[in-house]
Amino acid sequence: MAQNQEEYRVSVTGTKLVINDYIYVRARPGENGKFYWNCRKTRHRECTARAITRQIRDEIRVIKGPREFAHSHPPDHEKAEAETVLNSLRRTAEEHPEIPPAQVLRSEINDVDPGVLARLPDRLYHCGYCE
Ligand SMILES: [Zn+2]
Repeated sequence: MAQNQEEYRVSVTGTKLVINDYIYVRARPGENGKFYWNCRKTRHRECTARAITRQIRDEIRVIKGPREFAHSHPPDHEKAEAETVLNSLRRTAEEHPEIPPAQVLRSEINDVDPGVLARLPDRLYHCGYCE
């Protein structure tokens, strides 16, 4: 087990990567299961942090992360949580098409902190998840 896996909290949600509450967007795939990521704020030139991960079967390993490429801003826990909740909603909806989307939303949102809920994008409420 690589040691940095124990120090980093890592999750991949679609085209986004979250490491210790920093959110990255996928830049490009590399060789041998590697992926390159940019901090979500690089688009606005607020931050130049990058990350490199490697996927081995289901496991995502951080090769370069916040320690190697420092961010110009603090991590955003609530935004990162919102990404995770959104991804979990999408996955539940995909895996259980028989469950009405409104019910998926309600069951997920029961456990969600109100601060996190406030960070979910509005479009969630204006698409297939609407009642
Ligand atoms: Zn950053």
